[in-house]
Amino acid sequence: MLVVQKYGGTSVGDLERIRNVARRIAKYRDEGHDVVVVVSAMAGETDRLLQLAHELVEEPSPRELDMLVATGEQVSSSLLAMALNAMGYPAKALLAFQIPIKTDELFGKARIRDIATERMREELKKGHVLIIAGFQGITENGDITTLGRGGSDTTAVAIAAALGADVCEIFTDVDGVYTADPRIVPKARKIAKISYDEMLELASMGAKVLEIRSVEFAKIYKVPVHVRSSFSDEPGTMVVEEDESMEKVLVSGVTYNRNEARISLYGVPDKPGVAAKIFGPIAEAGIVVDMIIQTGRPDGRADMTFTVPKTDYKNTLRLVEKLSSEIGIEKIEGAEDIAKVSIVGAGMRAHPGVAAKMFNVLANHGINIHMISTSEIKISCVIDEKYTELAVRALHEAFGLDREPEQEG
Ligand code: ADP
Ligand code: ASP
Ligand code: MG
Repeated sequence: MLVVQKYGGTSVGDLERIRNVARRIAKYRDEGHDVVVVVSAMAGETDRLLQLAHELVEEPSPRELDMLVATGEQVSSSLLAMALNAMGYPAKALLAFQIPIKTDELFGKARIRDIATERMREELKKGHVLIIAGFQGITENGDITTLGRGGSDTTAVAIAAALGADVCEIFTDVDGVYTADPRIVPKARKIAKISYDEMLELASMGAKVLEIRSVEFAKIYKVPVHVRSSFSDEPGTMVVEEDESMEKVLVSGVTYNRNEARISLYGVPDKPGVAAKIFGPIAEAGIVVDMIIQTGRPDGRADMTFTVPKTDYKNTLRLVEKLSSEIGIEKIEGAEDIAKVSIVGAGMRAHPGVAAKMFNVLANHGINIHMISTSEIKISCVIDEKYTELAVRALHEAFGLDREPEQEG
C-alpha cells in the first residue's frame, strides 16, 4: 500500500511528539507500506513568524512573508527525518522546490498547479520514507509561495492524488470530524463517515479540521481521506464519495467562522455594470468575496453588503474607496467583529423548514441576524462575533446533534 500521512502542528509540537510520530511511521514501514509524510510547522511557529513580521513593519511584502513562514515546515520536516533515520528507518526531507510542487504567484494563498512525481517515486523505490514540508510551493520563477493557513492538508491530499495513494491520513489533535468544534461544543459527536460534499461545506463554513482546498482535491481525484488522532489508534472519520448506505441526516454539523469582515456600501447607483465594476478589481486582487447582499432603495440607488476574509479587509476597503468617486458610492462602512454560523447537511435538500428553525433558535436567544445565505445543503447567518459560542451550542442542541442522527424521512 502507498499511504500519504499528514501530521499537523500539535502532532509535531515538541521533540517527544516528533519521536512519537516517527514511531507511528515506523510501524507502517514494518507492515511493508510505502509512506509519504507531509508535516506542518511545529505548533505556534507559523503564528510566531507572522507576528515577527507584523511587529517589524505594518504591511510586510507578501513575497517576503512567504519566504519567512515557509521556514516553519523546513524545521519540522528535517527533524522528523532525523528522528526516523536515528531509529534505523531511512528517511529524507524534501521542500516544495525539490519535488517540485509548482504554484501560481498569489503569495499567501497560492494554488497548486502541478506536482512532479519522478523524484518522489525514485526516493520511494530506494526505500526512503519521504517527509515533505507542507504548506509551501514554488512559482515558475523559483519564488517560494505558501498555500494559505491550514495549507498542509492541501499539500497532503494533492500529493496523495498525484501519486495515486491508497489513502490520505490526516493526523491531528482531534480524533475525527465532529458535529461541531469539540472545543466549543463538549457534546459534539464524532462522525464516522461523511461525503466529500458535506465535508466541503463544513470546511468552507469554518470547520478548520480540514482545509477547504484539500477537500476539493479529494473530491476531484477521489482520494479517500481519513481524519484521525495522532495520539491514539482509534479510527477517525472517513471522507468519501456519497453512497446509498450513508445516513442522510438532516443536519450533519454546525460551524462558525470568525475570520471574515463585513463591508457595506450605501447609495450605490442601481444600474447595469456597477456590481461588475466593484467586484472586478476585488477579484483581480485575489480576494475571495463570500456573502453578497444587495437591496434596492426607493431613490433608485442600492445598498450593498459583502464579506471578505479579515486578512483582506483593509485592502478591500482601500479598493472600494478608490472606486467610490468614479462610481458614486454615498457611504462606505465596515466591521470586523462579526461571525458566520452555519448548519450543514445533505438531508436539508428535501426539508423546507430548516432555515426557519435556525432563525427561530437564534431569535429565541436574542441574537440578531445581519446577513443570510443558503445553498442546497447549508444555511449561514452572519451575527455579532460575541454571540458565536452561544449560537453554535444552541443550534447544535436544537437540531438534535448531541443525540444519535435522525434519518431522513
Ligand atoms: P492541525 O494543526 O492538526 O492541522 P487544526 O487546528 O488545523 O489542526 O485542526 C484541528 C482543530 O479543528 C481541532 O482542534 C478543533 O478544535 C477544530 N475543529 C473545528 N471544527 C471541527 C469539527 N467539526 N470537527 C473536529 N474538529 C474541529
Ligand atoms: N503551518 C501552516 C499554518 O499554521 C500550515 C498548516 O499547519 O497546515 O497554517
Ligand atoms: Mg490544520
